Amino acid sequence: MVHGGAGTIAAERDEPLRAGCAQAAAVGAALLEAGGSAADGVVAAVEVLEENPEFNAGHGAVLNRAGEIEVDACLMSGERAIGAVAAVPWFRHPIRLARLVLEDGEHVLLCGRGALAFAREHGIEPDSPEEMITARARARFADLGDTRGDTVGACARDQDGRLAAATSTGGTARKRPGRVGDAPLAGAGTWADGSLGAVSATGDGEAIIRTLASRRAVEFLALGHPPFVAAEAAVEEIAGVGRGQGGLILVDRQGRIGRACNAQAMPWASVVDTVARSGVLRSVD
Ligand code: ASP
Repeated sequence: MVHGGAGTIAAERDEPLRAGCAQAAAVGAALLEAGGSAADGVVAAVEVLEENPEFNAGHGAVLNRAGEIEVDACLMSGERAIGAVAAVPWFRHPIRLARLVLEDGEHVLLCGRGALAFAREHGIEPDSPEEMITARARARFADLGDTRGDTVGACARDQDGRLAAATSTGGTARKRPGRVGDAPLAGAGTWADGSLGAVSATGDGEAIIRTLASRRAVEFLALGHPPFVAAEAAVEEIAGVGRGQGGLILVDRQGRIGRACNAQAMPWASVVDTVARSGVLRSVD
């Protein structure tokens, strides 16, 4: 299952965002069908969304107050392996870096200059600002009311029952340089527990960090709630912190999916037993 960010979405953007999510879910699902791991599936799906300029991740990420791109990303597997990067500039595929951090295994989270050095050690160079900044990102920089949305994430269960979640974002538009959101923080924007479920969250990063929303969603699963109820309960907690707005997607260990959103809209797509579905979840119309 994938999401394309919780936020305020003009009706004319529904279709490109829905289609982008559907394409990403199809790519991830095809990998799982071919025997790929849950981690392979979520990384592949997120890479498709990072490439798509409609979304606020990788190529097309929003600009911070200094007019620069600083991205956050996290990959977590159900075996509690975590790799994350935060506040790294100009990377088209930050989720690849997160995966390298996970595979390297020494640390869980690298940020800023250190993450850049780590990327270079692994032969990955940042892209140029000209290639990474889209017209849409520039327009969002100019629109003072438009700070959030279009983050991307995925969660999956593979044929062997393994779980994984991934989230990637440019964060909030006009954030302070150095601001780190929920996406790269395990338990906040991204969480996977092999015996329970995998979650990717989006929305007001500060509220999601304060409530550890992804981890909480999995705790609601542990209490026996079905996925949709667990998702709603975690989003309610986000709302309880300064009227936070957000959304999340999840898959449980049986492969059942859930999603919830209290922001105006959240595009999503899923493939369950080869049945593909997609849409834009609207909480207020
Ligand atoms: N959660 C992201 C952040 O605060 C933003 C978003 O989901 O749109 O960095």
